[in-house]
Amino acid sequence: MSFIAIIAGIFTIPAILLGQDTTNLTIHVVQRGENLFRIALQYNLTTDEVAFANGITDVSNIVVGQRLVIPIETAPIIERQVHIVTAGETIRSIAELYGKTVDEIAQLNSLANTDIIFVGQELVIVPGDETPTPPPTPTVSTSTDTDETSDSNVTPTPTTQEFVVSDDPSAAIIHTVQSGETLFRIGLQYNLTVTDLAQANNLLDPTQIFAGQQLIIPGIEPPPLALDLPDIVTEFRINPLIFVEGRTGRIEIQTNTPATISGQFLDQELTVISQNDGTLHNMLVGVPVFTEPGIYEVTLTIIDSTGTPIPITANIQIIAGGYGRQTLNIENELLLSEAVENEEISLIVRNTTRFNPVRSWGNSLSLPAAATMNGVFGTIRSYNGSPFNRFHRGVDFAGTPGTPVLAASDGTVVVADALQIRGNTVIIDHGWGIYTLYAHQNETFVIPGDTVVSGQPLGTIGSTGRITGPHLHWEVWVNGISVDPLQWVQEIFP
Ligand SMILES: [Zn+2]
Repeated sequence: MSFIAIIAGIFTIPAILLGQDTTNLTIHVVQRGENLFRIALQYNLTTDEVAFANGITDVSNIVVGQRLVIPIETAPIIERQVHIVTAGETIRSIAELYGKTVDEIAQLNSLANTDIIFVGQELVIVPGDETPTPPPTPTVSTSTDTDETSDSNVTPTPTTQEFVVSDDPSAAIIHTVQSGETLFRIGLQYNLTVTDLAQANNLLDPTQIFAGQQLIIPGIEPPPLALDLPDIVTEFRINPLIFVEGRTGRIEIQTNTPATISGQFLDQELTVISQNDGTLHNMLVGVPVFTEPGIYEVTLTIIDSTGTPIPITANIQIIAGGYGRQTLNIENELLLSEAVENEEISLIVRNTTRFNPVRSWGNSLSLPAAATMNGVFGTIRSYNGSPFNRFHRGVDFAGTPGTPVLAASDGTVVVADALQIRGNTVIIDHGWGIYTLYAHQNETFVIPGDTVVSGQPLGTIGSTGRITGPHLHWEVWVNGISVDPLQWVQEIFP
């Protein structure tokens, strides 16, 4: 898959070739909360330029889902194309796949012996011109509201992270920050900009890095996944190849005959979704915040049709999420008690660990409000001077009280209740272990058992619970683990 196409699932569908024309045109799909001004800004254009290109006479009249032509012309680039070797492939089968000869592939990759290729190996198929220029990155505007997590000079977190998307060769390596290094100097080493690094690492403030911090260096080949696969497994995919603290990873296994799979990772019993008559097996894994960076073993047991258990183990690297720190002062000390917090978390965990095999979400989730995002997931927090041992479990949206709170996807309401910290809260079960949570609402319109559809109003933005100003606090839970919701908006899940 090409670099450009990988990003396509995020906010835009760039680089579609129109007819036989060689001009690449970018198509932008309007998201909730966007207006023409903000869209134009993303692409360095004026509102008028975008309006003109789309024959729009009333610039205030655009609708969610509308496709806009973005008049940016770029010369077509021949993109570097690589193939990641999967179990069972030979150099011959790969060459055939791309209409190449074995010699061509061997030469492109300086392979002396074409019999020796390994799972996870990256083979160049098309060398490409230059590093392709990614399309403009959609950014999240910052707000002036004094929200619980806003910080006046904070640069909003970029919302694209190409390296973790879909079946990308997952080009990424890890750099451990040495004392005295700056993001600028690290960028120089890898021929990347400060912005590239800040985006790839979810850094709120690029000047705040510390010795020992692990940074993802995007665009560089990761270490191959060494794995000796049994015959029954035709494909074993870990995506991304390196998991990130606080994010969701996917494991996918294809078997040549029907099988059942069970497994463990990070002390979690994996939830395995088997499809295609028991030959395609997906696992969605939430990596808890505060997981120490390191190599962790995933252990799986495959049981084939004869009932024979076949064990597989693989190592998965986990790196730090690089989340910022924040100190908050809360007047109502009662709401800071660990007992209150633990009780609320266990209520949420109880309600987000039931596995519902019926999937009602699409490829990804939608944003839950037409409002400005002003707080990101993962920020490590101290309240009233306490140790930094808690973290922000959601994404915040500043919005005037009364702004509708919208279901991020189809699902069933499992909780609609007044909680002490989260205030009026709704939790929706979307199936396959995926749950969304909407907190601090002024009022809610749904009750447990209600079936909801994507975009349906669940309530309105308010300031109930432990809060310093009105906003929507939105969480995503995967099998009882809270994860970064924005990843679920930006990426396509299997
Ligand atoms: Zn929040």
